[in-house]
Amino acid sequence: SDVEKNINTPAIIELKMLEETKKQSHSDGLTGLFNRRYFDDVLQGEMNRVQRYEGCFSVFFIDLDNFKKLNDTYGHQAGDLTLKVVADILQTMKRTEDTACRYGGEELVLILPETEKMNALVIAERIRKKVEETGLEFEGKTFNVTLSGGIASYPADGKEVQELIHAADVALYQAKESGRNRIFIHDFEKRHYLRIDFAGEVQVKSVTQSSKSEEIDVP
Ligand code: GH3
Ligand code: MG
Ligand code: MG
Repeated sequence: SDVEKNINTPAIIELKMLEETKKQSHSDGLTGLFNRRYFDDVLQGEMNRVQRYEGCFSVFFIDLDNFKKLNDTYGHQAGDLTLKVVADILQTMKRTEDTACRYGGEELVLILPETEKMNALVIAERIRKKVEETGLEFEGKTFNVTLSGGIASYPADGKEVQELIHAADVALYQAKESGRNRIFIHDFEKRHYLRIDFAGEVQVKSVTQSSKSEEIDVP
């Protein structure tokens, strides 16, 4: 048919190969998420955009909890499957405009354009909860995984890419330190970290560096 003829035209085949190569150079083989290189490009692009138009955006860094132990207990393949499942949850639960990437081994990241800190927190918390509730199975054995997360927002937490990544990283570290399976928000202005606790009513706790905490209202 004409369609087949067209598809088999060398120029079109080359174009398709080019597209495929481009897609592969942007995506992570295991999870299908975008890769680190693409993340760097999108983040810099987003930074350039907001600097010009006075917008805002947030980044949500994710690190799976006790993943080494999960690998040791259930095997590396179970670990790979876990990464894929969490990546799928991220893809499904993020908004269309958000970019989900695999930052490193068991570290994922979401770029949320035009998103204030508290809105990013709500989305992040939904994802955290979904991952916690998702039952995993590999070779007849069932298990679960949790994640810790750190959120940083432009412009409050950083006006340059490196500064923003560092801020999210610090928040993530705080989430790990305070017991994992939770999301922390970086907050330079107040010099403390907000911890969300959705165990009952929606509430936000602020945790100072000295671990004292006070409750504040969610806007
Ligand atoms: P924490 O809660 O502090 O993050 O503990 P952790 O064990 O997750 O942290 P750590 O950084 O010590 O270990 C990360 C582990 O993730 C080690 C590495 O073997 C594993 N990992 C990294 N990439 C992959 C992968 O692609 N597949 C599998 N199965 N494991 C991976
Ligand atoms: Mg890690
Ligand atoms: Mg980890």
